[in-house]
This record gives sequence, structure tokens and C-alpha cells, in this order.
Amino acid sequence: MARIKMNPIAEMDGDEMTRVLWRMIKEELICPYVELNTEYYDLGLKNRDETGDRVTLEAAEATRRLKVGVKCATITPDAKRAEEYGLKELWKSPNATIRAALDGTVFRAPILTERIKPYVPGWTRPITIARHAYGDVYKAAEYRVPAAGKAELVFTSDKGETVRLEIARFKGPGVIQGMHNIDASIESFARACFEYSLSAGQDLWFSAKDTISKVYDGEFRDVFERLYRSEYAERFTQKGISYFYTLIDDAVSRVIRSEGGFVWACKNYDGDVMSDLVSTAFGSLGMMTSVLVSPDGCFEYEAAHGTVQRHYYRWLKGEKTSTNPVATIFAWSGALRKRGELDGNGELACFAERLEAACVGAINDGVMTEDLAKLCSDGKVRSVDTAGYMKEVRRRLDLNA
Ligand code: NAP
Ligand code: MG
Repeated sequence: MARIKMNPIAEMDGDEMTRVLWRMIKEELICPYVELNTEYYDLGLKNRDETGDRVTLEAAEATRRLKVGVKCATITPDAKRAEEYGLKELWKSPNATIRAALDGTVFRAPILTERIKPYVPGWTRPITIARHAYGDVYKAAEYRVPAAGKAELVFTSDKGETVRLEIARFKGPGVIQGMHNIDASIESFARACFEYSLSAGQDLWFSAKDTISKVYDGEFRDVFERLYRSEYAERFTQKGISYFYTLIDDAVSRVIRSEGGFVWACKNYDGDVMSDLVSTAFGSLGMMTSVLVSPDGCFEYEAAHGTVQRHYYRWLKGEKTSTNPVATIFAWSGALRKRGELDGNGELACFAERLEAACVGAINDGVMTEDLAKLCSDGKVRSVDTAGYMKEVRRRLDLNA
């Protein structure tokens, strides 16, 4: 059969075990069927170091230009990694750099299968977490206060007017943090959430802590409300979906009691933490997808998990590992489907569907990696290593080629 042709997407390679998976997925599951057309950027830590992290910026630019990107998990270096890789600098998280460059919102959704039951039995539909990807504690200035003194918040406008607020009077050592956000980014975040909910046909929830943070979180609440009323209320009604704001405390309790099937918009930190909680509760980190959507319609797909370092060290010793490749495969299928949708390339979009169906089909028929097998109490299960799982997915793809 002729391989499917496509326009280019931005491809961002990464680190450790996921870098190993990356290659296997391309060789085994994509290239036999698709004439893969990518602009390749090596975001592996070694190359980021060698290029002074320029490669990350170039990859972000390519994603913006090509509208679609797919990214492998990457190491965010810390002191230990700096030693391990002999780094020139502690490079920033590539994800943070790309998010900032695209001013995007990250949507994380679990891949549901019949065999894996969520820890919360009521959750029968996916919960998508939308995480604001700019500012707050992720772009903060921090200071270790050495001794007694006064801390102030100072804002100087471009015209030279100054506002001062007291933060605290320190009687001894302590810590301070100054964080910010900007209306334009909050608005893009809100817009991305409304658009995503409309296209998914799912209700949108937004939560923050506006009872305590009256100005900061209050601004988030107001931006959402304003935009909803002025631009989205009618479209939501037509679509039969709803938007509502609630305090984050109330949101967590409602989420647990819900059956899922909605988008939960969270501020940056809440989204970071809640997406880990929700993905764990749905089963395995290996089954959580992530897509960064920019307000001007660029899409960057990846798995929500990291580079699975522990498995990589075992793999380096020549051991077989049962690392779950599903979220990384879905990053590829997501990018290929989006490329297909944007270009009217039905064949490519259809291939993405088939690839996903083959992954889910294998699991439903009991062939799965160890992380999932552990969660399956009913019926026959064949726990396989990564290569064994890929082989089963390949077999299924070939069956309905
Ligand atoms: P991790 O790679 O997500 O893995 C943590 C643990 O979760 C693994 O040791 C494994 O548990 C389990 N796990 C995660 N993904 C799995 C999969 N696909 N299949 C099977 N098990 C899976 O997090 P980490 O080990 O804390 O971080 C490693 C590196 O990833 C760090 O350098 C971090 O900076 C980076 N990171 C990158 C991204 C990203 O690029 N998006 C996100 C998060 C972290 P068991 O060992 O118990 O099997
Ligand atoms: Mg996290």
C-alpha cells in the first residue's frame, strides 16, 4: 500500500526512556504507513546544552510557523542533572520556554479504556484539565530574607508614578516571592478554554481562590466572566453546554463526586498539581495526553509524563522494560490528526484514528504494559514489555490496513 503523504509538522525529540520510545514509535508504527514529514529539533539535554538552548526557541518558532508540533518528554535540569550531563548552565524547562513562546494553554486528558477502572468509580467520562501556562509562581522573583527588615511591593509605571504596598515586617529571616500575571494572557487562556469546550462539546468549569486573593484571583474570575458574557454565552447555549465559576475548594469536592465529561480550567499551579492527581486517579501517567493550544491556533502535542528515568537506567543495563508508550503514541496521533484536519487530509486523520484504536483495542483485549496490568483485576491479562506491546499494536494496524 502507498504510504500517506503529509505536510510538515515540528518534531521535538527528547530524553531518556521516552527518547527510546520515540524512535520505536516512528519506526514501528508510523513510518511504515506514513511518509513522515517533519522539521526535526533535538531537544535532548545534550543538544540543548550545546546550542545554548537555542534549539528550544527554534522548535517553538517552528511550531508557531507550521501550526502543529509533537514533543517528546525532556529533562528539566537540576543540580544533579548538571553534574550527570556536565551542563554549562541549568537550562529552563523546555516546556516552560515553549509555553511562554506560544502563550498557550495546556489541556490534559486521560485515555480511557474498558479494562482500566479509575480509582474514583463514578468517573465514567474523561476529565480534561486546562492549565494556564503563563506566569504566577512559574515566573516569580524570589528572595531569601536574611534578617529583620521591611518587605514592600513596589510598582513604578512607565510614567514614573510609584505605588508601594507593605508585604511584611520581618522580625527575623524568612522568604518572599513576587509573582505576576497579565490580562492579555489570562484572556487568551479563557479564550482557549471556551474554544476547546465548544469543540469538545463539554461543560467548562473554572476555579480559583478569589475569597482570599481578591485582586489577583478576582481578576481571573472577572476576565472569564466578561469574555463569557460578551462572546461565548450564546454559543454555549446553542451547543447545550454551560460555563460556571466556583471556588477551588468547592471545585475539588464537585470533581470527585462528578461522572467526568467536562473541562476544568485551572490556574498555573492548580493545573500542575490537579493534572497529576486526576491522571493518577484515572490509572496511569502513561495514559495521560497533553496538548498546548495557543490563542492563534497552534497545537503542540505530548505525553503528560516525564522521561521515565528509572526505566531508562534499567534499559541502559540491557534489561527489558515495560514502559507504557500509549501517551507518546497519542501525542503523535494527535499531531497527525490535527495536521490532517487543518489540511483537509482525510487519509492522515483516519490513520491517526486507526493508530489510537489499535492501542486501545490491544489493552481492551488484555495486552498491556505492566503499569496497566497491575490495575486490571478482572479477566485475562497478558503483561508485556514495551516491544511486545508495540508489536501487538502493529499487528492490529496491519490487520485493518
Ligand atoms: P516520570 O518520568 O513521569 O516518571 C515517574 C514514574 O512514573 C516512573 O518512574 C514510573 O513509575 C511512572 N511512569 C511515568 N510514565 C510512565 C510510562 N509511560 N510507563 C510506565 N510508567 C511510567 O517522572 P520523573 O521520573 O519524576 O521525571 C523524570 C524526568 O522527566 C525529570 O528529569 C523531569 O524533569 C522530566 N519531566 C519532563 C516532563 C515533560 O517533558 N513533559 C514532564 C515531567 C517530568 P515506576 O518507576 O514505578 O515504574
Ligand atoms: Mg506536575
